[in-house]
Amino acid sequence: MVPLVRVRPEDARDYMRLFVNRRAYTLQSARPDPESGRHHYFRPKARACGKELSLTLDTVRRHLRGEITIGLYAINPATQRSKWVAIDADYEGAMEDLLKLQFHLAEDKVDAALEMSKRGGHLWIFMATSALARECRIYIYNLALKLGMRIKGNGLAEGIEIFPKHDELRPGEFGNAIRGPLGVHRGAARRYWFYGADYAVDKQIAYLKGLRKVSESQLRDFIAGKAMPPEFERPRSVSVEGPFVSRSGREFRILEHVGKVRTVGRNYVTQCPSCAEAGQDRSRDNLAISIEDPRKYICWAGCTREMIRRAVGCPIPDRRSA
Ligand SMILES: [Zn+2]
Repeated sequence: MVPLVRVRPEDARDYMRLFVNRRAYTLQSARPDPESGRHHYFRPKARACGKELSLTLDTVRRHLRGEITIGLYAINPATQRSKWVAIDADYEGAMEDLLKLQFHLAEDKVDAALEMSKRGGHLWIFMATSALARECRIYIYNLALKLGMRIKGNGLAEGIEIFPKHDELRPGEFGNAIRGPLGVHRGAARRYWFYGADYAVDKQIAYLKGLRKVSESQLRDFIAGKAMPPEFERPRSVSVEGPFVSRSGREFRILEHVGKVRTVGRNYVTQCPSCAEAGQDRSRDNLAISIEDPRKYICWAGCTREMIRRAVGCPIPDRRSA
């Protein structure tokens, strides 16, 4: 058991100001999933009415105390903006990549705070005022590519992950959440700190508050003349084109071809069959299948529909010969 720590009300308030983009949040399960052994995150609901809970100051305080562990979303859907960018790296050599990024960000006079994680670290950059997710992404993607860094997605299973993971959210979307800093990781049963300050909640928050924040005009200078690298443009929506009906006249149903699924937001999430063939996606969360319309599915590591259909033994029939 990780001991609970005292949290001053002002620390919870400052944390809220630094990290919370929207009131929707996720909660890390206290018990591991029996199949994967991982402590998954879910969106908590009120027991009485089933309504999704909204993040409060008390939720943040309990997270900092170590009672619960929350995940935070990167984008406020009303503005498509974020207060921060977080770069997650958890592969061999991850720390070297994060330190390299931190060094080159400093050349732009951008302070980046390095937080430990279970297998690597998270590098955090804070905005003076919330910045457009798209502009944050253009900056970091271009910088990382310039440094020759591997970025997860687009067929690469290993590399840095950049939050916000979307340019914008459509109504009802949440995007991706990241473990709220300074909380206790339920799987590791320990707290991960930022390297830049003493290992105490108040000292850590004071350190984060003292970091230089990136202004919108600075960010726009950084990305002047730049665009999102095309290979990392995320599909705006999941593709539904292509024949659903096989030659036998039966509709293809991806859910009949995948293992156990979990519900994450509006999707089922499970191991991508095509990634699995390559020995990837051990965390079993690359494939998202729309709950509303299970004909829509996508692999976030970049496997195409063709690859997935081939992997499950139901290749898409060639239209020319069909
Ligand atoms: Zn895949």
